[in-house]
Amino acid sequence: MAVRAQRPLIRPLVQRLHAYVPGEQPKIPGLIKLNTNENPYPPSPKVLAAVKAAVDGRLRLYPNPTAAALRERLAKLHGCAPENIIVGNGSDELLALATRVFVEPSTESKVQGPKSKAQASASLVQYFNPSYSLYPVLAEIAGTVTNPVPLGADFGLPALAGLAKSGWDFNAALSLVTTPNAPSGHGFTTAELDALCAKSKGIVVLDEAYVDFARENAMSLALKHSHVLVSRTFSKAYSLCFQRVGYFVGHADLIAALDKVRDSYNVNGLGQVAALATLDDLPYYRRNFQRIIATREQVTAELTGLGWAVLPSQTNFLLARPTRYPAEEWLAKLRAQKLLVRWFKYPEVRDYLRITIGSEPEMEVFVKTVRKLGAGK
Ligand SMILES: *Cc1c(COP(=O)(O)O)cnc(C)c1O
Repeated sequence: MAVRAQRPLIRPLVQRLHAYVPGEQPKIPGLIKLNTNENPYPPSPKVLAAVKAAVDGRLRLYPNPTAAALRERLAKLHGCAPENIIVGNGSDELLALATRVFVEPSTESKVQGPKSKAQASASLVQYFNPSYSLYPVLAEIAGTVTNPVPLGADFGLPALAGLAKSGWDFNAALSLVTTPNAPSGHGFTTAELDALCAKSKGIVVLDEAYVDFARENAMSLALKHSHVLVSRTFSKAYSLCFQRVGYFVGHADLIAALDKVRDSYNVNGLGQVAALATLDDLPYYRRNFQRIIATREQVTAELTGLGWAVLPSQTNFLLARPTRYPAEEWLAKLRAQKLLVRWFKYPEVRDYLRITIGSEPEMEVFVKTVRKLGAGK
């Protein structure tokens, strides 16, 4: 009888892995869902029509492997060339690609004894804490070393000297910066991001998933610095999570490197159709941004009036520290009233709730419910 080799069937790295935990998508009738930063407004009717029109016998064909038409349109929009753009199956896919393309797995150099500083930086994926909680998971999967760096007061960006003191490594192979940040909603200025990028030796990805709700965007930095990539997505501002389309903009050499590693048909055909139709109807979406921003400001004022500490937000969600009960208890109380928000266990934000901005009627129900539950404090 053959003896099975004494080797685990599953890589130890994967056995140890803590998988990403996405926000819940429960099927509860009448639930007001304010937990995953989805857009309360549907895609434009023109987008729905374009997707429906594409559903026919052509589904048997492979989609365009390089999302050529979409990249051309995006290039026009951002004033660059199609070679400066890569489209992904959501921006999450591209963030994962970046950890594989720009960072050396740390395990590979282990046998060579103590690492030099340069070797250590080559394996480093760094990000702020708190920011997008997917980053550490992607870094772990790629076998790299993580460097979570605390933010300053009110989750602001420390000045460069302070950053280095907090442990930020300007030589790190890959720095991932959510801007505006999540879950804080804090918007960084292009000037401070420019300073950070200028001092960085490795790749900097500016993850602008929420930028359409912000005062500034940093797209110019991807076109100015050859080591900076800007990440965008159709998921949040363009009501298209379901279709999974995101993209990076940056230097053609970086884009070509990412392109080598991605799956040949990474962006599904209906996603390409939907994203193109979205770009044909931008005024529809800009009206939605304005509505969401107006609702956000209204809810900020009302919750502040109730004594909640609401951080100024440049996104489509709020991070707020409630009164009377701990945040975790609010989560349960609101859920019992069919209002689902997000609560993160980790220490930096465990006293807060993250509340996605829904439609005006949804947010009226939310504020009314908070008032009811918190009355008599
Ligand atoms: C939602 C989100 C993404 C992911 O977007 P997809 O394009 O849907 O993969 C990326 N970064 C941040 C910070 C997000 O919140």
